[in-house]
Amino acid sequence: MDKEKEKKLNKKRFAQREHSIKTKDRVVAWPRMGNIDLSMGALVSSLGAKIVMPPQNTNKALEIGVKNSIEGICLPYKLNLANYIMALENGANTLMMFQAPGSCRFGNYTKMAQKTLKKMGYKFDMIVFDMYQSKMKQTLEAFWHVTRCINPYRYYKGFSTGFNKAFAIDTAERLLFYTRPREINKGEAERCYKKWYEIIRDTTSVRDCKKLKKQVIEDFKKIPIDEDKIVPKVYLLGEFFVLLDPFTNQEIEKTLGDLGVEVQRQIFFSDWLEHVLQPSIFYKKESHRERCVRYAKDYMKRAIGGECLETVGDTVYAAKNNIDGIIHIMPFSCMPEIVAQNILPKVSRNENIPILELVLDEQTGKAGNITRIEAFVDLVMRKKLRRENDKIQK
Ligand code: SF4
Repeated sequence: MDKEKEKKLNKKRFAQREHSIKTKDRVVAWPRMGNIDLSMGALVSSLGAKIVMPPQNTNKALEIGVKNSIEGICLPYKLNLANYIMALENGANTLMMFQAPGSCRFGNYTKMAQKTLKKMGYKFDMIVFDMYQSKMKQTLEAFWHVTRCINPYRYYKGFSTGFNKAFAIDTAERLLFYTRPREINKGEAERCYKKWYEIIRDTTSVRDCKKLKKQVIEDFKKIPIDEDKIVPKVYLLGEFFVLLDPFTNQEIEKTLGDLGVEVQRQIFFSDWLEHVLQPSIFYKKESHRERCVRYAKDYMKRAIGGECLETVGDTVYAAKNNIDGIIHIMPFSCMPEIVAQNILPKVSRNENIPILELVLDEQTGKAGNITRIEAFVDLVMRKKLRRENDKIQK
């Protein structure tokens, strides 16, 4: 990008700082999404800014979001808006948000939220990270705009602790998904995960954060499991926000784990962080996106926004790697995932892999979905047992 264009882009990005909030008075907030607050919190607080996190997503947040949004907008926006409102009510005055241009509504989230919040009378600055433009340089710039911190050690500490916390918590989640269906003493894996969540959240030194991932792995290894148990593996695919937010996805990972299924979610915050923020010369291995482009090539030629390409690519990859089934979850009216939803029946037939579609919105009751998930798990389990029997007979 030439210098003039970059200058214009930065001007546009930071032009949204309309209120002259002094740096020392800044109270920063961002929307809830999975465990993102562990990393962002470590970074922002090490740069010296105060943080007010909105409460975890609940029915109350959903109610606030639905009341203040247009009806047809997707569910993640409604919850993001509710998070902003609740944070502003609790004293936040600087809102941070990711944005991505492209063919889905995500590109309009920040503009729509700003307009609505201003109409409601809130005074705030909004700092936007453009996911396709914000590589390391722009990211540092955005954090400088929020905190005015010029101490390089604080940036090093913030990024180092933030990255290490993201890797540690995602490792703990992966191990939870593996251990839960196999554990001998019910609930032990969940307790171990919750314990590590708190330790990871409260660890502040760079040295201690670097050790977290290893300690998590060692602790999960101590949980007694039934190694011979036949456990079907299911990929959980779909839209980024619903995959990461346990309130929105109705804790589907726990439901599946309790039914004896190993969930393999294909989207983790740390993978995304590594790929988006890290300069590409340091990123040696094939990224998740690149793998999906490769596997989806017979069904779609290019990305169309959201996680559509990832959903299709991961489904083909799963079928070729002995995964027993796919659960595709999406918010109601999600544009990219509707496209994926229409391609998946063909992928399912061609690649011989069962797929369950779950569409989530504010009206979705948990009981109905659990019945469908149980029926799907039955089907996947029977298929798995048949495959195991065939193996023994050979
Ligand atoms: S991916 Fe779907 S749910 Fe997410 S912002 Fe885009 S349209 Fe909305």
